[in-house]
Amino acid sequence: MLKKFDFHIHTRYSDGTCSHAEVVEAATTRGLEALAFTDHGPELSVGVGREKMTQMLEDIKIVAEDVETPVLAGIEANVVSRYGSLDVEDDFVKKIDILLIGIHDIGKIHLSDNAHEYLFRATRAIERQRVDVFCHPFFFNVDLLPSLSWEEIEGFVDLAAEKNVAMEVNVKYKVPDDAFIRLCLKKGVKLSIGSDAHRISEVGKIDWALSALKRVGAKREDLIYDNFVR
Ligand SMILES: [Zn+2]
Ligand SMILES: [Zn+2]
Repeated sequence: MLKKFDFHIHTRYSDGTCSHAEVVEAATTRGLEALAFTDHGPELSVGVGREKMTQMLEDIKIVAEDVETPVLAGIEANVVSRYGSLDVEDDFVKKIDILLIGIHDIGKIHLSDNAHEYLFRATRAIERQRVDVFCHPFFFNVDLLPSLSWEEIEGFVDLAAEKNVAMEVNVKYKVPDDAFIRLCLKKGVKLSIGSDAHRISEVGKIDWALSALKRVGAKREDLIYDNFVR
């Protein structure tokens, strides 16, 4: 049986519209077995302000203590350079349960080849530091996977396997495709589930991801759930 969890949720600390308490209430009502708060890192224009990051973790701790459903404190850090650096400091990363990274900007260079620039940054980012989950893989305005060769995609998935980075099945953008998820399964790369909710109505709405995972034959042990929830 697959687990029902949502490890990608935004609140008012970045560009979401809900509070932590509202999210937890919706998540428990909808039968989620775990959730993670993952507001945007500080370098995105709508990201959490650096001065609010400590308070954000305090708020998560308070709501987590009130419910039986496991609640993880996380962030969706931004890959902010060509060389894969992130907009969160090591000290902050030590305090959270789960580190998601996402590419939301690939700069103004060589835009004629977004897919390869994206691949370059994604590769550097997971080579450079410990990362738990790579968000909405290869989505940048469009799905970039069709613009890459199978060898390039396989090389990236091999690296993710070596570095123990999970790939997210993202409901908001409906990525990645079945072939990519199957490749992750084959290579032993774990999978995460993220609604990428910004509103209360989207919290825990993970049916699209569960359908994709069932279609490709993923099992509970292919998910990151048991690595984070004990
Ligand atoms: Zn994102
Ligand atoms: Zn997000």
